[in-house]
Amino acid sequence: MDSEEGPRPPSRPTHAILEIVPQLDPTPRLAIDPASVKVNLTAGTGVEIDWKDGHRSSYTFPYLRDACPCALCDDEREKSGRKPGEPPKLAPGALPLFKAAAKATAAEQVGKYALRFAWNDNHDLGIYSWAYLREICPCGVCDRSKAE
Ligand SMILES: [Zn+2]
Ligand SMILES: [Zn+2]
Repeated sequence: MDSEEGPRPPSRPTHAILEIVPQLDPTPRLAIDPASVKVNLTAGTGVEIDWKDGHRSSYTFPYLRDACPCALCDDEREKSGRKPGEPPKLAPGALPLFKAAAKATAAEQVGKYALRFAWNDNHDLGIYSWAYLREICPCGVCDRSKAE
């Protein structure tokens, strides 16, 4: 006899701040792992990551959106010669279109190595690995070492 009413997953409350407790690969790796990850969904302020080596990164949502690592966005950046996180350039003479600032509407951890965001423009293909996030850290120190 089959019962129609299976156990239902509890409805998830929306948190002002999504604290992701990173599930990490138990095998030691050279890749940098985060110690804590905070996604400020409601405030819309962005993402803060404390890394295990003591470094701290904070990203705004528009920066992360413009750094989306999916093939589509990557291709688009390649064609326009943008670096990850750099906003799209306007074609000469083009009028700026009003675009709502990028904001993440949801975030989740993917496997043990990455974050995935759903953006307010309905894009959610990018998988941001810890290594990628560390690589695009916008802080002055990392930015300087990248420029060299
Ligand atoms: Zn993308
Ligand atoms: Zn940094």
